Amino acid sequence: MEKEKIMSILEGAFDKGREAIPGGAVATYIPELGKADKNNLGLSICTKYGEHYNIGDTTTRFTIQSISKIISLALALEHMGVEKVFAKVGMEPSGEAFNSLVELDLNSNKPFNPMINSGALTVSSLLLPEFTFEQMTDYTRKVCLDPEIAINEAVFQSEMSHISRNRAIAYLLESKGIIETDVEGSLELYTKMCSLNVTAESLSNFGMILATGGINPKTGERVISGRTVAIIKTIMLTCGMYDGSGEFAVRVGIPTKSGVGGGLLSVVDDRMGIGVYGPSLDEKGNCIAGRPLLQHLSEELGLHIFNRSRF
Ligand code: GLU
Repeated sequence: MEKEKIMSILEGAFDKGREAIPGGAVATYIPELGKADKNNLGLSICTKYGEHYNIGDTTTRFTIQSISKIISLALALEHMGVEKVFAKVGMEPSGEAFNSLVELDLNSNKPFNPMINSGALTVSSLLLPEFTFEQMTDYTRKVCLDPEIAINEAVFQSEMSHISRNRAIAYLLESKGIIETDVEGSLELYTKMCSLNVTAESLSNFGMILATGGINPKTGERVISGRTVAIIKTIMLTCGMYDGSGEFAVRVGIPTKSGVGGGLLSVVDDRMGIGVYGPSLDEKGNCIAGRPLLQHLSEELGLHIFNRSRF
């Protein structure tokens, strides 16, 4: 398909996303996130050949929030192995909100999956004795091909002063013997990772590396092992959009991870990475522009994981 045709499809998708913005709201439970401009929208695509297509606010910096959960999970899987990580955290969609502790308290002895806060805090507790935050930031820069990634101190401080719920989850995890390292250190590491500033373009780069099975096509370097990449993409498809993951998988069919900063990272296997920035969120905490935007792309470009023809 020629570039012009692709750009006109991207513009159509962007318009669909923009129409949905008024129906959502920026996150305010972390007060600093409430300062974001609800009308911002960026769409960045990086193909497996390293070509970029950018529309809108693709260089605006915003905090990665829960998209960091896949970076921490990748690092944990690479260094500790699959069995050790999944002994502590499950692989099942939860059907619960991202910050729920109900199921964990009542029915389970491990968090449902590494994409909800209880699971991600558990992964952070595994990483804490092995890695410094600086090393994890470097890893994030490497997988996002973005050397400018750094912590947003204002968002970090803002979340740390409104951390009661995550702290409750972390101590519940300790009481169940799931967190065995320093609880406060695990909370801080998790929150710092959520506070890294990225752009839609950095997310599309990371998505592209996941799409290629872990190789940076620009250098030929293997950045992540194929086994880890396969696990990450599967968990993105089943759990990446919280309790909206099932409907998103049916309608869009592109493995995606969201963050309450407004970011979305999507992977079209063997084709492209997609990064979206739109801080107006739906009631589940996902970028509200994301679904119509990505559904349009999926249908027009044939990107659904189980239907690669155009609808
Ligand atoms: N730092 C956020 C929290 O723990 C991340 C949530 C998200 O992006 O979904 O509440």
